[in-house]
Amino acid sequence: MWLEFFEFFSGAVMAYLITRIPFLTFPRVKSWNEQFPPHPEPVYVDSHLIQRVLHMRTFYWLAIVFALIPLTFGWVSLGHGSALFGFGMWSVAGWLVLSRVTAFISGEEAPATKQLAMRLQNVKNISDSEESCCPFAQPMWEVTSVRCKSCGKILLMEPRPDLGRPRSDGWIMGFVRLIISDGRAMISSDEEE
Ligand SMILES: [Zn+2]
Repeated sequence: MWLEFFEFFSGAVMAYLITRIPFLTFPRVKSWNEQFPPHPEPVYVDSHLIQRVLHMRTFYWLAIVFALIPLTFGWVSLGHGSALFGFGMWSVAGWLVLSRVTAFISGEEAPATKQLAMRLQNVKNISDSEESCCPFAQPMWEVTSVRCKSCGKILLMEPRPDLGRPRSDGWIMGFVRLIISDGRAMISSDEEE
């Protein structure tokens, strides 16, 4: 009984981790983050940041492509290896694909969307224009909102999601937090990401 449970569980965990590979690893390479201040400091709203939001959106959806790996392995395992291990992989990978697709259809927002990038672009445009909040507008994305560094005015009420920077809470805690939040902003814990 316990052995069966363990087989199913390891298949499920394996599938879960594989589908999160793009989001957990790719953006965290050091050379990819040199233009950003270290986590969890506020990030200046510029074209680098907007580009990053779009990249995070890609990584989020890339999970569906990565789900093909556990779906394939799970299928092979169902026929030739441990059926429970395969079933565990199938359930998790299948669930991920289903939930992302249904969320997309029902219009539920991913942590990083094109709309979010456009809202940030808008903040940047206004700060560069004559309608800016103050003469030296410096929009910074803090934990819960975008705020001007010079005058302190809140420019956009938008909690900051995970931006793919290497995490200040270290690999293990950062990893756990990302696994739980799936990259969404976690404002309740009064800390970013
Ligand atoms: Zn200002």
